[in-house]
Amino acid sequence: MLLNRHKGYTEAALDGLTLNADIQKEITTGCIANDLCELTDIIDPFIGTHEFSQRVRSYAAPEARMAPRSHSIIAVYETHFGDLASMHAMAKGKGESVEVTKIEIEHWFMFLNQVALGRRIVAPGKEIGDDTSPISHFFGKDSKIEYDQIFASENLFKIKNRAVGMMCHLIQDLFTISHCQRDSSKKIKKFYHYPSQNSTKHKEADDTIHISDQELIAHCRECIERISQKRPYNYLAILELTEHPQKSDDGPFA
Ligand SMILES: [Zn+2]
Repeated sequence: MLLNRHKGYTEAALDGLTLNADIQKEITTGCIANDLCELTDIIDPFIGTHEFSQRVRSYAAPEARMAPRSHSIIAVYETHFGDLASMHAMAKGKGESVEVTKIEIEHWFMFLNQVALGRRIVAPGKEIGDDTSPISHFFGKDSKIEYDQIFASENLFKIKNRAVGMMCHLIQDLFTISHCQRDSSKKIKKFYHYPSQNSTKHKEADDTIHISDQELIAHCRECIERISQKRPYNYLAILELTEHPQKSDDGPFA
Protein backbone atom coordinates (compact mmCIF):
# COMPACT_ATOMS: atom_id res chain seq x y z
CA MET A 1 0.00 0.00 0.00
CA LEU A 2 1.14 3.52 -0.72
CA LEU A 3 2.61 5.53 2.15
CA ASN A 4 -0.07 8.20 2.08
CA ARG A 5 -2.78 5.56 2.20
CA HIS A 6 -1.16 3.92 5.25
CA LYS A 7 -1.05 7.29 6.94
CA GLY A 8 -4.66 8.12 6.02
CA TYR A 9 -6.10 4.84 7.30
CA THR A 10 -4.08 5.06 10.51
CA GLU A 11 -5.12 8.65 11.15
CA ALA A 12 -8.75 7.72 10.48
CA ALA A 13 -8.43 4.86 12.98
CA LEU A 14 -6.93 7.22 15.58
CA ASP A 15 -9.67 9.77 14.98
CA GLY A 16 -12.20 9.60 17.76
CA LEU A 17 -9.86 7.82 20.16
CA THR A 18 -8.59 9.93 23.02
CA LEU A 19 -4.89 9.21 22.86
CA ASN A 20 -2.41 11.95 23.59
CA ALA A 21 -0.79 13.73 20.67
CA ASP A 22 2.70 12.27 21.22
CA ILE A 23 1.34 8.73 21.16
CA GLN A 24 -0.72 9.44 18.04
CA LYS A 25 2.31 10.93 16.30
CA GLU A 26 4.44 7.83 16.94
CA ILE A 27 1.67 5.43 15.91
CA THR A 28 1.33 7.37 12.65
CA THR A 29 5.11 7.31 12.17
CA GLY A 30 5.17 3.60 12.96
CA CYS A 31 2.59 2.83 10.30
CA ILE A 32 5.18 3.63 7.65
CA ALA A 33 8.24 2.20 9.46
CA ASN A 34 7.63 -1.15 7.72
CA ASP A 35 8.41 0.59 4.43
CA LEU A 36 11.19 2.88 5.62
CA CYS A 37 12.94 1.02 8.47
CA GLU A 38 16.14 2.89 9.21
CA LEU A 39 15.09 5.70 6.88
CA THR A 40 11.97 6.52 8.92
CA ASP A 41 13.54 9.44 10.77
CA ILE A 42 15.83 10.53 7.97
CA ILE A 43 13.72 11.41 4.98
CA ASP A 44 10.33 12.95 4.47
CA PRO A 45 8.28 9.84 3.69
CA PHE A 46 5.63 11.81 1.86
CA ILE A 47 7.86 13.12 -0.89
CA GLY A 48 6.16 10.78 -3.32
CA THR A 49 6.53 7.12 -3.95
CA HIS A 50 8.65 7.41 -7.08
CA GLU A 51 11.36 9.44 -5.41
CA PHE A 52 11.05 7.25 -2.34
CA SER A 53 11.57 4.03 -4.28
CA GLN A 54 14.58 5.60 -6.01
CA ARG A 55 16.03 6.27 -2.60
CA VAL A 56 15.35 2.75 -1.38
CA ARG A 57 17.20 1.42 -4.41
CA SER A 58 20.11 3.76 -4.04
CA TYR A 59 20.30 3.05 -0.33
CA ALA A 60 20.73 -0.64 -0.96
CA ALA A 61 24.35 -1.06 -1.96
CA PRO A 62 24.95 -3.19 -5.08
CA GLU A 63 26.87 -5.76 -3.06
CA ALA A 64 23.91 -6.10 -0.70
CA ARG A 65 21.54 -6.64 -3.61
CA MET A 66 23.76 -9.30 -5.07
CA ALA A 67 24.29 -11.12 -1.77
CA PRO A 68 22.33 -14.25 -0.98
CA ARG A 69 19.26 -13.66 1.15
CA SER A 70 19.86 -13.30 4.90
CA HIS A 71 23.20 -11.67 4.27
CA SER A 72 22.06 -8.15 3.56
CA ILE A 73 22.60 -5.79 6.45
CA ILE A 74 20.15 -3.26 5.05
CA ALA A 75 16.72 -3.67 6.58
CA VAL A 76 14.93 -1.37 4.14
CA TYR A 77 16.24 -3.46 1.28
CA GLU A 78 15.26 -6.74 2.93
CA THR A 79 11.70 -5.51 3.53
CA HIS A 80 11.23 -4.85 -0.18
CA PHE A 81 13.28 -7.54 -1.87
CA GLY A 82 14.50 -10.00 0.75
CA ASP A 83 13.80 -11.90 3.91
CA LEU A 84 11.59 -9.31 5.61
CA ALA A 85 8.75 -9.35 3.08
CA SER A 86 6.41 -10.65 5.78
CA MET A 87 6.51 -7.14 7.28
CA HIS A 88 4.29 -6.27 4.31
CA ALA A 89 2.13 -9.37 4.35
CA MET A 90 4.04 -10.78 1.38
CA ALA A 91 6.06 -13.94 0.69
CA LYS A 92 9.86 -13.76 0.79
CA GLY A 93 10.16 -16.29 -2.04
CA LYS A 94 8.25 -17.31 -5.13
CA GLY A 95 6.57 -20.66 -4.51
CA GLU A 96 6.62 -20.21 -0.74
CA SER A 97 3.83 -22.09 0.99
CA VAL A 98 1.07 -19.91 2.35
CA GLU A 99 1.55 -21.37 5.83
CA VAL A 100 5.18 -20.22 5.94
CA THR A 101 4.27 -16.63 5.11
CA LYS A 102 1.31 -16.74 7.47
CA ILE A 103 3.44 -17.95 10.40
CA GLU A 104 5.99 -15.22 9.78
CA ILE A 105 3.22 -12.60 9.80
CA GLU A 106 1.82 -14.10 13.01
CA HIS A 107 5.25 -13.87 14.56
CA TRP A 108 5.50 -10.20 13.61
CA PHE A 109 2.14 -9.61 15.30
CA MET A 110 3.26 -11.55 18.40
CA PHE A 111 6.49 -9.59 18.57
CA LEU A 112 4.86 -6.19 17.95
CA ASN A 113 2.13 -6.93 20.51
CA GLN A 114 4.80 -7.73 23.11
CA VAL A 115 6.77 -4.58 22.32
CA ALA A 116 3.65 -2.37 22.20
CA LEU A 117 2.48 -3.66 25.59
CA GLY A 118 5.92 -3.25 27.15
CA ARG A 119 6.20 -6.99 27.71
CA ARG A 120 9.34 -7.15 25.61
CA ILE A 121 11.99 -4.49 25.84
CA VAL A 122 14.26 -4.69 22.84
CA ALA A 123 17.82 -3.54 23.23
CA PRO A 124 18.03 -1.22 20.23
CA GLY A 125 21.55 -2.13 19.11
CA LYS A 126 20.98 -5.85 19.52
CA GLU A 127 21.06 -7.95 16.39
CA ILE A 128 17.81 -9.72 15.57
CA GLY A 129 18.47 -13.42 15.27
CA ASP A 130 20.73 -13.31 18.26
CA ASP A 131 17.95 -13.75 20.86
CA THR A 132 14.64 -15.57 21.37
CA SER A 133 12.05 -13.03 20.24
CA PRO A 134 9.18 -14.35 18.07
CA ILE A 135 10.82 -12.92 14.95
CA SER A 136 14.37 -14.09 15.68
CA HIS A 137 14.05 -17.52 14.15
CA PHE A 138 13.53 -16.35 10.60
CA PHE A 139 16.53 -14.08 10.66
CA GLY A 140 19.84 -15.69 9.93
CA LYS A 141 22.19 -15.68 12.88
CA ASP A 142 24.35 -13.50 10.69
CA SER A 143 21.55 -11.16 9.64
CA LYS A 144 23.40 -8.19 11.14
CA ILE A 145 20.09 -6.34 11.27
CA GLU A 146 19.54 -4.60 14.59
CA TYR A 147 16.26 -3.71 16.25
CA ASP A 148 16.87 0.00 15.84
CA GLN A 149 17.05 -0.54 12.07
CA ILE A 150 13.46 -1.77 12.21
CA PHE A 151 12.07 0.90 14.54
CA ALA A 152 14.44 3.69 13.42
CA SER A 153 14.74 4.72 17.05
CA GLU A 154 16.48 3.88 20.28
CA ASN A 155 13.81 5.66 22.33
CA LEU A 156 11.57 3.20 24.19
CA PHE A 157 8.47 5.45 24.07
CA LYS A 158 8.83 5.77 20.31
CA ILE A 159 9.55 2.05 19.86
CA LYS A 160 6.45 1.01 21.88
CA ASN A 161 4.10 3.25 19.94
CA ARG A 162 5.69 2.66 16.56
CA ALA A 163 5.07 -1.06 17.16
CA VAL A 164 1.32 -0.29 17.24
CA GLY A 165 1.63 1.64 13.98
CA MET A 166 3.56 -1.23 12.43
CA MET A 167 0.70 -3.59 13.28
CA CYS A 168 -1.66 -1.14 11.53
CA HIS A 169 0.63 -1.29 8.48
CA LEU A 170 0.48 -5.08 8.47
CA ILE A 171 -3.32 -5.03 8.76
CA GLN A 172 -3.50 -2.55 5.87
CA ASP A 173 -1.17 -4.57 3.62
CA LEU A 174 -3.04 -7.77 4.48
CA PHE A 175 -6.06 -6.29 2.73
CA THR A 176 -4.23 -4.72 -0.24
CA ILE A 177 -4.93 -6.55 -3.49
CA SER A 178 -1.30 -6.39 -4.70
CA HIS A 179 -0.09 -8.16 -1.52
CA CYS A 180 -2.36 -11.16 -1.27
CA GLN A 181 -5.33 -12.79 -2.88
CA ARG A 182 -8.47 -13.44 -0.83
CA ASP A 183 -11.48 -15.59 -1.70
CA SER A 184 -15.11 -14.45 -1.80
CA SER A 185 -15.39 -14.83 1.97
CA LYS A 186 -12.22 -12.73 2.37
CA LYS A 187 -10.05 -15.63 3.52
CA ILE A 188 -6.45 -15.65 2.30
CA LYS A 189 -5.87 -17.72 -0.80
CA LYS A 190 -2.33 -16.74 -1.73
CA PHE A 191 0.44 -14.34 -0.77
CA TYR A 192 2.32 -12.55 -3.53
CA HIS A 193 6.08 -12.21 -4.03
CA TYR A 194 7.07 -8.60 -4.69
CA PRO A 195 10.35 -9.12 -6.62
CA SER A 196 8.43 -11.26 -9.16
CA GLN A 197 5.93 -8.49 -9.74
CA ASN A 198 6.18 -5.52 -12.05
CA SER A 199 6.63 -2.67 -9.56
CA THR A 200 4.51 -0.28 -11.63
CA LYS A 201 1.61 -2.74 -11.74
CA HIS A 202 2.06 -3.42 -8.02
CA LYS A 203 1.93 0.27 -7.25
CA GLU A 204 -1.17 0.85 -9.37
CA ALA A 205 -2.97 -1.85 -7.38
CA ASP A 206 -1.61 -0.62 -4.04
CA ASP A 207 -4.58 1.72 -3.85
CA THR A 208 -7.20 -1.02 -3.90
CA ILE A 209 -8.29 -3.12 -0.94
CA HIS A 210 -10.33 -6.29 -0.50
CA ILE A 211 -12.77 -4.73 1.97
CA SER A 212 -14.37 -1.32 2.45
CA ASP A 213 -12.42 1.63 3.84
CA GLN A 214 -14.64 1.60 6.91
CA GLU A 215 -13.94 -2.07 7.57
CA LEU A 216 -10.20 -1.56 7.25
CA ILE A 217 -10.28 1.47 9.55
CA ALA A 218 -12.28 -0.60 12.06
CA HIS A 219 -9.61 -3.34 12.06
CA CYS A 220 -6.88 -0.75 12.68
CA ARG A 221 -8.89 0.97 15.39
CA GLU A 222 -9.47 -2.36 17.11
CA CYS A 223 -5.71 -2.92 17.21
CA ILE A 224 -4.98 0.54 18.63
CA GLU A 225 -7.79 0.28 21.18
CA ARG A 226 -6.74 -3.16 22.39
CA ILE A 227 -3.21 -1.99 23.03
CA SER A 228 -4.42 1.14 24.81
CA GLN A 229 -6.48 -1.18 27.02
CA LYS A 230 -3.27 -3.15 27.74
CA ARG A 231 -4.51 -6.20 25.85
CA PRO A 232 -2.83 -7.81 22.85
CA TYR A 233 -4.38 -7.33 19.42
CA ASN A 234 -5.95 -10.56 18.16
CA TYR A 235 -4.88 -10.95 14.53
CA LEU A 236 -6.09 -14.52 13.92
CA ALA A 237 -9.35 -13.64 12.15
CA ILE A 238 -7.65 -11.50 9.49
CA LEU A 239 -5.15 -14.30 8.77
CA GLU A 240 -7.66 -17.06 8.15
CA LEU A 241 -6.79 -19.23 5.16
CA THR A 242 -9.11 -20.50 2.47
CA GLU A 243 -9.67 -24.27 2.19
CA HIS A 244 -7.14 -24.86 -0.59
CA PRO A 245 -4.56 -22.07 -0.41
CA GLN A 246 -1.87 -21.71 -3.06
CA LYS A 247 1.86 -21.11 -3.09
CA SER A 248 3.08 -17.57 -3.61
CA ASP A 249 3.63 -16.02 -7.02
CA ASP A 250 3.29 -12.66 -8.75
CA GLY A 251 -0.49 -12.95 -9.21
CA PRO A 252 -1.90 -10.71 -11.95
CA PHE A 253 0.90 -8.17 -11.41
CA ALA A 254 3.74 -9.68 -13.47
ZN1 LIG B 1 3.89 -2.36 3.24
